[in-house]
Amino acid sequence: MTHSPTVTLHGKVWNLVDLDIAILFCRQFDWEKKVLEDKEVSAYCEICCWELKQSENIEHSTGYFNGQDWVCSECYENLIKK
Ligand SMILES: [Zn+2]
Repeated sequence: MTHSPTVTLHGKVWNLVDLDIAILFCRQFDWEKKVLEDKEVSAYCEICCWELKQSENIEHSTGYFNGQDWVCSECYENLIKK
């Protein structure tokens, strides 16, 4: 049995190979750190589908925005940041 590389995001273990396409897609953009505000609807991380929403929990309320899509802080820090 081979062990493919994994990454842990929000306590869940993912196989990197399953996230490859989304990571490559997201690396094309410049991301800006942003806190979701009240008026913004909830969004989902492009990579791990983590919910981003206005919340007192900064893990949920802070993400990275490219003008259209969102990624969560963990994906950004672990997978996108160069
Ligand atoms: Zn994510």
